[in-house]
Amino acid sequence: MSQPNENPLLQYGGLPRFDLIAAHHVEPAVQTLLAELDADLTVLEATARPTWDLLVEPLERLQDHLEMTWGSVGHLLSVRNSPELRAAHEAMQPAVVQFSMRLGQSEPLYRAFRELRDGADWLGLEPAQRRIVDSSLRDAELSGIGLQGEAKERFNVIQMELAELSTRFANHVLDATKAWTMDLTDVAEVAGLPKSLLQLAAQAAGGDVERGPWRVTLDHPSFGPFLQHSRRRDLRERVYRAFLTRASEGELDNGPLLRQILKLRQEMAQLLGFADYAAMSLHSKMAPSVAEVERLLEELRVASWPGGQQDLEELRAFAKEQAAPEAADLMHWDIAFWAERLREARYDFAEEELRPYFPLPQVLDGLFALVRRLFGIVVTAADGEVPVWHPDVRFFRIADEAGQPMAAFYLDPYSRPADKRGGAWMNECVGRSRLFGTPDAPVRLPVAYLVCNQTPPIGAIPSLMTFREVETLFHEFSHGLQHMLTTVDHGLTSGIRGVEWDAVELPSQFMENWCYHKATLASISGHVDTGAALPGELFEKLLSARTYRAGSDMLRQVMLALTDLELHHFVRERGPGDTQEHGYDPNGSRTPFDVHRAVAAKTAVLTPLPDDRFLCSFTHIFAGGYAAGYYSYKWAEVLSADAFAAFEEAGLDDPGAVAFTGRQFRDTVLALGGSRHPMEVFEQFRGRGPSTAALLRHSGLAR
Ligand code: ZN
Repeated sequence: MSQPNENPLLQYGGLPRFDLIAAHHVEPAVQTLLAELDADLTVLEATARPTWDLLVEPLERLQDHLEMTWGSVGHLLSVRNSPELRAAHEAMQPAVVQFSMRLGQSEPLYRAFRELRDGADWLGLEPAQRRIVDSSLRDAELSGIGLQGEAKERFNVIQMELAELSTRFANHVLDATKAWTMDLTDVAEVAGLPKSLLQLAAQAAGGDVERGPWRVTLDHPSFGPFLQHSRRRDLRERVYRAFLTRASEGELDNGPLLRQILKLRQEMAQLLGFADYAAMSLHSKMAPSVAEVERLLEELRVASWPGGQQDLEELRAFAKEQAAPEAADLMHWDIAFWAERLREARYDFAEEELRPYFPLPQVLDGLFALVRRLFGIVVTAADGEVPVWHPDVRFFRIADEAGQPMAAFYLDPYSRPADKRGGAWMNECVGRSRLFGTPDAPVRLPVAYLVCNQTPPIGAIPSLMTFREVETLFHEFSHGLQHMLTTVDHGLTSGIRGVEWDAVELPSQFMENWCYHKATLASISGHVDTGAALPGELFEKLLSARTYRAGSDMLRQVMLALTDLELHHFVRERGPGDTQEHGYDPNGSRTPFDVHRAVAAKTAVLTPLPDDRFLCSFTHIFAGGYAAGYYSYKWAEVLSADAFAAFEEAGLDDPGAVAFTGRQFRDTVLALGGSRHPMEVFEQFRGRGPSTAALLRHSGLAR
């Protein structure tokens, strides 16, 4: 159908033509598309009626067109980057953002959605359709669309100011990180440092690996290993203190900024009718209330406290055994160092030792066999059937056991530092939707991008994976399953679309658990030379290393989550005789640092230093998307562990029970995705609400 001279980015229907798309297509394609979509939106605003066909369907078409073109550009930017593509993307991004804002804040569409919800058609809608209407209204309202006059103006001013403050906050952290360095010139000063860090440090100082000078910085790859390995306690202290007081003084002081951010967030939430910013944040999340999140965090805190204390005692005892003078008085800058020494003593295996057992082809075979047992799906290679963006990229199709096609995915497994972004992710290529069906296929089937950055093959030797890389593959594949195994035909809420932010990591983390199941691990491992499965002794070490310092790690996450929550939450309760305050009042006398100290008093086994200013570099919540949402890490982990426990209860080594529970998981969590409230979906799978018991047991913290 498409003409040979047509812009491949404007080809609609089918999969992106990665063999044809080039950087010079981007600007003309996006300009043409936006002009069309803008005109379509104007028509839709004028003609929108509060009915499904005349409001929601045209809107889905509009968004889908944008996603097909702009999504392909974004995807290529992350996997086949080039200066030309970057320039084209940058040139068009403002126009795309502007269009998206116009779409998200359209008053005629908002009114039509309200009428649809309040009108006669509402009762005839399916639950998935109602979710789409409800969440469209919710998102529009959170963007201030319901406000009038002065309140609306003030809201817009606050949003601009917050955007600017967040950018300044992040820049201060970057600048302060860059501004501090420690140059070492004496070999005695680098005692204990591993070769990789010495190389990095010598490179930073323009020195020699053996003779120096070496430069230590506050960037993670330098700061982290330094604290773990440096035998110079005085230098560890210097680095630690510098890290903890980043962006807390002088021109780069984030203290005033973070107070201003908290104050403006509170005002913004109140303009929208919420008690505080935490309530506003939770309005669009799975967690029902601040109190409920606090209850969950408190459960985890109480359960991890003895473990955290024991971890510290163990380090003291171990340091004493090694005749370290600081043994009786371990300080913050000693923890990472001694934790690393104890880890080496207990679990003396190197990541590298495991690699030969995990060649990618073996891991994929094992993974596909596992999902066939669990979910009754059959994955087959379909390389060469569609264009890809790099010769290493694979293409697979998924069908049910009767051979009925369900979905497809691309897999781009290897690291390519020159043109591919780091990290691993799953992204949508196209989503399931009946709007885009064809005569042969009445429903368009979903297609996913799975991207990892693992070790590439060397000659004839396949990619040999670290255990962490195996876990990552399982993680992303399972995000992909929620996108691909959806049975929802309404595109705006099929797959992962519309899944609440704090529930998104449920399927992905769930799947990681299988990497610690002995029989599964046996089937995904096979030595590259001999084909032998991972030896039992190494498996046992992997298992016990999983729970090493779990109490300390849990307490740290609870501390961060609680601090974040308390800073965005404020209640004053009048009791008989006195008034109780809880949380943080931006107009009160307690500072954010006081709030942090109060939280740390119950979550940190080692009291923070008096000059601890870590809030000044807490970019997750002051310059990222995690404000009043840091708890999500633990929230989703509770769900995923509890979901895996359903399989443990059924019997992990009973094929019938695993298949039965697997089908239930597929028919609820994976099939329904964002089309229902995630609590409803979870309860449907588990037969009850979530419990922390499984996470605590897996972490070795259950009593
Ligand atoms: Zn994830």
